[in-house]
Amino acid sequence: MKKKEAIFIASILVIAGILGLGFRISGQRSHNTIRITVDGKEFGTYSLSKDQVIHIGDTNVCEIKDGKVTMIEATCPDHYCMKQKAVDEHGGSIICLPNKVVIEGKDSAEPSESDDSPKIDAVT
Ligand SMILES: [Zn+2]
Repeated sequence: MKKKEAIFIASILVIAGILGLGFRISGQRSHNTIRITVDGKEFGTYSLSKDQVIHIGDTNVCEIKDGKVTMIEATCPDHYCMKQKAVDEHGGSIICLPNKVVIEGKDSAEPSESDDSPKIDAVT
């Protein structure tokens, strides 16, 4: 009985490990994505390999074309985000400060593991 349980748990761990590894490897190859956040909340992730126009809420519109993403419309007064450099497979970011919209290229060369380990300050 106990042995069966152990085998069951072990096989789940092995499958989870394989899946995790598979995702990690596929994430580092060709499938470049961008992540859009609005006011610190995730709006969505999109593949750079598919041309499309994304409406970000009511304020901003960005366009993915030829593996690059640019802001094509924005309600902000300065339109600074529309002048920023396109985000492509090398990463980068477009930030619209007035509308709190951030488009980030997910650069596979920079794993963001530090996000998962928050620093614990001394308890006062
Ligand atoms: Zn803007």
